[in-house]
Amino acid sequence: MNQLQSNMNGDVLFSLRPHTLDDYIGQTEVKQKLKIAIQAAKMRNEPLDHILFAGPPGLGKTTLAFVVAKEMGTNIYVTSGPVLERQGDIAAVLSSLSDGDILFIDEIHRINKAVEEIFYSALEDYKVDIMIGKGPTARSIRIGLRPFTLIGATTRSGLLSSPLRNRFGMTLELQFYSVDELIQIITRASGILKITIEESAAKLIAERSRGTPRIALRLLRRTRDVATVKGKSAIDIDLVEKTMDILEIDELGLDETDRKILKTIIEIYDGGPVGLESLAATLNLETDTLKEVHEPYLLQKGLIVRTSRGRIATDLAYSHLGYSSRIRGGLFDGSLGESQECETQD
Ligand code: ADP
Repeated sequence: MNQLQSNMNGDVLFSLRPHTLDDYIGQTEVKQKLKIAIQAAKMRNEPLDHILFAGPPGLGKTTLAFVVAKEMGTNIYVTSGPVLERQGDIAAVLSSLSDGDILFIDEIHRINKAVEEIFYSALEDYKVDIMIGKGPTARSIRIGLRPFTLIGATTRSGLLSSPLRNRFGMTLELQFYSVDELIQIITRASGILKITIEESAAKLIAERSRGTPRIALRLLRRTRDVATVKGKSAIDIDLVEKTMDILEIDELGLDETDRKILKTIIEIYDGGPVGLESLAATLNLETDTLKEVHEPYLLQKGLIVRTSRGRIATDLAYSHLGYSSRIRGGLFDGSLGESQECETQD
């Protein structure tokens, strides 16, 4: 169990994490649902129901899992889907949990089928059946578990099999943060990092952070580096602009890779539609990275749309990158409204 136990104390990033639901900025609806569930579980003196957090990387899924443990007053053990390779691994982890403990599994959509099957009875009946030995002498043994809570995090809830997904009492989708919420996160973190930041500077960082706290905090730390090198004691808007220039992050928060994605759709695929796999291959990017890290924000900003025939660069993408708008095909031939509803591909 010790390799599972979180050991993030002392880490700067850990100190930036909020520890209670009240400190946790944004995600109002998610927090409201959690508050009720936590209060009810405490009143009944029962473990919390299993929870699945879904949403793009860096939105605060892991942080929320720790917040839930703190609010419940329970231990939390952390592992991740790809690490759990064999049924025996997970049986050992589960059987060492005590009453009410929380097991947090990041990237839960990456656990393999055999391990996943162990979870069905573990989550529903707090027991696991594992096979010992092979061939005719193989036998199944049953291990009883203490009532525990599984918190899963996934960037793509659609990849979870339905038997597993259905065993979570709550699936909570995290949303991108507003600029105002990110300003609060940046201001709070500046206080912890003991740096002074002007409000306009915090706003500019927030606007370039793609609605994502992890990026906001990273940009804050990079700006602090520039301040240190330049011998400045406070972060002002000039310093943020300088840092964004160095990092090549534009007004919409796009980085070089995002712009390359849009340019490729526009220049090589004539604005699209292009399938995700082909796009990833042309860009020499992992399909998962394209899908989980870049695409959600480009979609949210309206720079691309997803249709049944593939991704299409929008007019906004053309104007943002300084191209003249495209004048033929998909976007303006009236087919977009229809195809926008078919977001089933990939
Ligand atoms: P995920 O698990 O979704 O990838 P994390 O929980 O690791 O994201 O969060 C990334 C970073 O953003 C952490 O350093 C955390 O401190 C910060 N963070 C996330 N959500 C919030 C929030 N609501 N308020 C303040 N900081 C946050």
